[in-house]
Amino acid sequence: MTSSESPLRVLHLEDTEADSFLVRHTLERAGMEMAYHNVQTKDDFIRGLREDDPHVVLSDHSLPGFDSREALEITHRERPHTPFILVSGALGDELAVESLKNGAADYILKDRLARLVPAVERALQLAREQRERRAAEERYALAVEGAADGLWDWDLRSGRIYFSPRWREMLGYGEEEVEPSLDGWHRLVHEEDLPRLKQALDEHLEAGQQPFECEYRMRHKEGGWRWVLSRGVAVREPGGRAVRMAGSQTDITRRKTAEEALLRHAYYDPLTGLANRALFENRLGRALRQARRRHAPFAVLFLDLDRFKVVNDSLGHAAGDRLLAAFARRLERLLRPGDTAARFGGDEFAILLESVGDVQATLVARRILEGFAQPFKVGRQDIVAGASIGITYGTQAHASTQSLLREADTAMYRAKELGRGRYEIFDEALYERSYRRLMMERDLRRAIQNHELVVYYQPLVNLESGKVTGCEALVRWQHPTRGLVLPADFIPVAEETGLIVDLGDWVLRTAVAQQRAWRDTGLPPLEMSINLSPRQFNQKDLSHNILQAIEEFSLDDPWRVKLELTESVLAAPGEPATRLIQELGRRGVRFAVDDFGTGYSSMAYLRRFAFRTLKIDRSFVQGVATNPDDAAIAAAIISMARHLKLDVTAEGVETEPQRDFFRRERCDEAQGFLFSPAVPAEAFPDAVKHVEAA
Ligand code: C2E
Ligand code: MG
Ligand code: MG
Repeated sequence: MTSSESPLRVLHLEDTEADSFLVRHTLERAGMEMAYHNVQTKDDFIRGLREDDPHVVLSDHSLPGFDSREALEITHRERPHTPFILVSGALGDELAVESLKNGAADYILKDRLARLVPAVERALQLAREQRERRAAEERYALAVEGAADGLWDWDLRSGRIYFSPRWREMLGYGEEEVEPSLDGWHRLVHEEDLPRLKQALDEHLEAGQQPFECEYRMRHKEGGWRWVLSRGVAVREPGGRAVRMAGSQTDITRRKTAEEALLRHAYYDPLTGLANRALFENRLGRALRQARRRHAPFAVLFLDLDRFKVVNDSLGHAAGDRLLAAFARRLERLLRPGDTAARFGGDEFAILLESVGDVQATLVARRILEGFAQPFKVGRQDIVAGASIGITYGTQAHASTQSLLREADTAMYRAKELGRGRYEIFDEALYERSYRRLMMERDLRRAIQNHELVVYYQPLVNLESGKVTGCEALVRWQHPTRGLVLPADFIPVAEETGLIVDLGDWVLRTAVAQQRAWRDTGLPPLEMSINLSPRQFNQKDLSHNILQAIEEFSLDDPWRVKLELTESVLAAPGEPATRLIQELGRRGVRFAVDDFGTGYSSMAYLRRFAFRTLKIDRSFVQGVATNPDDAAIAAAIISMARHLKLDVTAEGVETEPQRDFFRRERCDEAQGFLFSPAVPAEAFPDAVKHVEAA
């Protein structure tokens, strides 16, 4: 999004609260700075239009007492230049087409909200262009009013032409400086335009029913060219032969320049010089027609810069603009001459590859990604912008250019989700997935607010003594309709969306408070293991929050807190993990490597970070009693850990032979269904008794 609408004023006509939430949230998640206003009734809508002066109107179709048709009419009446986007549930094709015909900027299905952000940005871009065009047209009207025409009068019998003073002045010449003849006139005309002028004159003189009229360039005395419009009518003898011809000459240079600029503006993006969306769609439409007629395959690529927002925010808009221009230049170099690259606004680009097969399109995508892995010079900075690409293949089955663009766009979002700097090819399952994820995210947000999350605790057992020495806090979601949901189903969404930060804080405080409560009831000392996500590490006040929770509940040795990290946290570049671990370590917090063996498994990490415990992943534990390879690996991990002076915990011990194996290998602790699953806090003391009695 460029800077001109910040914050973006959005007026959303929608009477279902959940849908309003989802739409608002979709926009917010895209990083839009918004002043969002939801209205539900006609009166409020009209007031909103008048008072907010929104940049964009979003509207549901069926509304209390009226519908989107009327909403569109009202919008046109109140704010004729404000884009109107229909955001509706199942909307018949006919209604969709009708609204577009009536001037809606776009329509989005509620279950295809992935399209919303690009549609809004596009509508804004279009509105911006129209605004500029209106301004240019007004300027032109003024220019025309000020123009005064010159006159010419040609005696065909003598060949003499009279040019009025204004005619000559327009071109900078004095009285004697233009030869009063057709030659004198023609000599001043641009050679490219002369044949056209001659032909227009001849046609009129021979048979002309219509007045003569021609636009052409003439040389100004000071150099350069003026565009003129010449009009005239012949005077004829009774036989029809022309004997005289007279007319006017108007300076239309400014109009012509404005027209050219408008044309450029109508089809090209002023910042990068690439095609704009209008031209792109034009070419795409042509490619689609050819695909239908000649089975000519083509591909559409949607491309978005991965780090544009960062550049814009940190180095400013001017640097952002320079990056976009440099990006466009490089993109052009990476494409073949026949391909069309366009900028759709913001940092969104589209590419049309004509006559390509499946393989070639992915090759092009790969070439582009490689090309963009090289840094850009913006001022004195080297910036690696990175890009994500979505690809869709055009076939004759595609109904419209819009559906193609939508697909490429959806695939691009998927590429971003999967980790950026990559390309994805569109398939139908993509729509489904993005929708389901959005619903999950919405539900999870509510779950946190409505206290639907609970923490369960799974005992950790000392293999030598058989005593419970601690427990691991494992979060659960008590879903109102789906029952108990396990973390595998919502932690990934929470991580992707950043909700994990709040969720993690809550789990931490809940677990530590629980630990305190157990201590107060006289339970033997319990170490509390808490899982931390990589995302939480980017949180500035993480160590503060942790220490605060520990202090607030006055926990001290041996009621320790142990934080479980996966290897991916450690492999991430940068020092925050090291510093955090050291800082907390000094305050008595311990650390464990979770799921050891599934990640990078680098001993160097274990040495560098002050870990206390290594948890062997369940996947190695499963086979220890039956598979000699697994047994060998597990034994090797244990001996290595001992060498590094780390405690070892075996995760997911389910059978007695597994337990016996780890006992034999002198593994310190184990955790698993053989002893107890994770249980609610109330059930934990009984679980402990049960484990220790066994
Ligand atoms: P984890 O940290 O490796 O937790 C151990 C998982 O193994 C738990 O699954 C536990 O219920 C399961 N488990 C324990 N013993 C057995 C066994 O004998 N057999 C089998 N098949 N499974 C066993 P759970 O609770 O579903 O959690 C899955 C993962 O979700 C956890 O793996 C952890 O990475 C993550 N997680 C759970 N709670 C939180 C949390 O509060 N914050 C964060 N960031 N992640 C969490
Ligand atoms: Mg864990
Ligand atoms: Mg684990």
